[in-house]
Amino acid sequence: MSAPEENLMRTEARTDREPAMRVNPHLAARLALFGIALWLVAGVALAAEPRNVLVLYSNARLVPGNLEVEAGLQESIRSSAERPVQVFSEFLDLPAFGGAAYEATMARYLREKYAAHPPNVIVVAAREALDFSLRHRADLFPEVPVVHTAVSASFPGPLGVLPPDVVGVPVEYDILGTLEQALKWHPGARQVVFVSGSTSRDLEWERLFRQTAKQLANPVEVLFMAQVPSAEVAARLHALDGHAVVFTSGFYRSGDGRWFTPRQSVEFMAQASGAPIYGNFSSFLGTGAVGGKVTGFSAMGRQAGQIVNAVLAGTPPAAIPMPTSMPAVLDVDARQTQRWHIDDADIPASAVVEFKEPTFWENHRTAALVISTVILLQFGLIASLMLEHRRRRKAEMALVQRGGELAHASRLAVAGELTASIAHEINQPLAAILANTEAAEMLLAAGRDRKGDLTAILADIRRDDLRASNVISRLRTLLARQATAREDFELNDAIEDGCQMLGPEARRRDIALVLRRSPGPMHITGDPIQIQQVLINLALNAMDAIGDLPDGHRRIVVTLKENAERVHLEVSDRGRGIAPEHLPQLFDSFFTTKQRGMGLGLSITRSIVEAHGGRIWAESTPGAFTVFHVELPLFVQQSIRMEALAWT
Ligand code: ADP
Repeated sequence: MSAPEENLMRTEARTDREPAMRVNPHLAARLALFGIALWLVAGVALAAEPRNVLVLYSNARLVPGNLEVEAGLQESIRSSAERPVQVFSEFLDLPAFGGAAYEATMARYLREKYAAHPPNVIVVAAREALDFSLRHRADLFPEVPVVHTAVSASFPGPLGVLPPDVVGVPVEYDILGTLEQALKWHPGARQVVFVSGSTSRDLEWERLFRQTAKQLANPVEVLFMAQVPSAEVAARLHALDGHAVVFTSGFYRSGDGRWFTPRQSVEFMAQASGAPIYGNFSSFLGTGAVGGKVTGFSAMGRQAGQIVNAVLAGTPPAAIPMPTSMPAVLDVDARQTQRWHIDDADIPASAVVEFKEPTFWENHRTAALVISTVILLQFGLIASLMLEHRRRRKAEMALVQRGGELAHASRLAVAGELTASIAHEINQPLAAILANTEAAEMLLAAGRDRKGDLTAILADIRRDDLRASNVISRLRTLLARQATAREDFELNDAIEDGCQMLGPEARRRDIALVLRRSPGPMHITGDPIQIQQVLINLALNAMDAIGDLPDGHRRIVVTLKENAERVHLEVSDRGRGIAPEHLPQLFDSFFTTKQRGMGLGLSITRSIVEAHGGRIWAESTPGAFTVFHVELPLFVQQSIRMEALAWT
């Protein structure tokens, strides 16, 4: 047995034995708990019970204005988990049906139907429903507050004398404002045609039109069409032209008894009309009407929903703050403004423009964004590539300049090496000139007529002078220029010049320097001084390599050959040769096997050759011979490849 059961049995046993009036404290506590639980359950049930909102629409269910009010209302009315809100809708269909008997039946029907779910708030949409609710208030949930929506303040009616628990924000249809705007847009209009129908609501609108027409400042002819058969409405509208403007409330019933919703009636009119149509209902937009100053039905529904929320929250209806009327905005159909040639610039910025054809930009926004981004990226890429290219060119130019400077420095070094032989080379003619001058003086001192001898002496002096000046001018050419030249020149001559420059050094070292010219001339494009520098570098190395050979064996052969489109320069010697392991590094900067060598000569030589579009290589057998081969294109079509002047 469980503990509570045991407890209960003991309690019962005691009750049998003890006097009846005695209060058992356990039982009292249990009863109290039970009471609290009941109260809580009831409270929760009450809290969970939904609040009901009954909406009475004046007309039929599918009237577009009703659908919009309903949507706005539902959007505003807040439900909560603790207290949901149920919205019930009823359609009184009053324009089509009516009369005291019908209304009484409807009131009874509603009372009985909603007895099971009595409303906490009643919403009435449009004037007819408000009138109905006021007339039958006593029978129809008299204590329940009423919120009205879509009720016009433009018509005479009960709005001024409503009971304090019947509240709402009225709508004011700005017919005059709409017409004035229309007449501004159609300055040629001489006629305003008002169209309504034959129900009591339609006839009320006609009365309103007549009042409004009196206020029109423009001297226009005003025509009214109410209770006119639909065919005639169509025919008369069809006969209109750009000199007229149509204003309509829409209608429920035409003069021949055809039923419409107001929206359908405007659609019908627009199909026939030769003049633009204006009206104050948002539901006319999209039917073929231009538009007008309207208050959207959904905005009315939203406003009513907010009042309903406040009432359900317990605020007394009269204490709910509200605007005096619903705001109206100019609402137009862009297709119609275009059709009737209304300039976009004349449409106020505050207007709502519906059915606007999306612009190219709106239609293709994503594609346009992607394309413009790609184009921008491309621009950016091109710009950065151009910048990069410019930087590279600048760097290349700087490199070429450095290369030129290095080549020049190397020529200065070579000149240093050749100083002794050059000095000797100049000294020789100078000494000869001196000797000849002394001989001439002696002849003149002797006073004899030795004109012939003197002429021969002067010729010698001239020849020696030219010889010395040739040496100096060659040296100056070798040393002076820094910038890389590009010219067409004959290679045999340039190499022969170089050999002459080397001649004194070769003689000083007792070396035979043999030049074998090519049979025909060989024209190449480039810098002749740099090509001479190639020869001098190779020949000086060869002179070093054969320094140890006995007298009579020291010989360097410079050969020029031509084959197809290339020229070939060979510098060969029979000196100590190059070790095979040194061959791969021969042209690297700072590679040298000499005690006082710099290791730059061959590196500079290769850069010059490559800058001329050529190549250089060596073949050697240690102890036997060494040949340096230089191959150059006969004609370098493009400029010297400056970038090849970068030393390795
Ligand atoms: P450097 O003359 O200052 O050493 P180079 O770059 O002109 O620099 O020459 C690099 C090396 O190539 C030389 O030290 C030498 O070992 C080798 N070399 C160049 N020409 C010859 C040659 N004709 N015979 C043998 N060795 C040579």
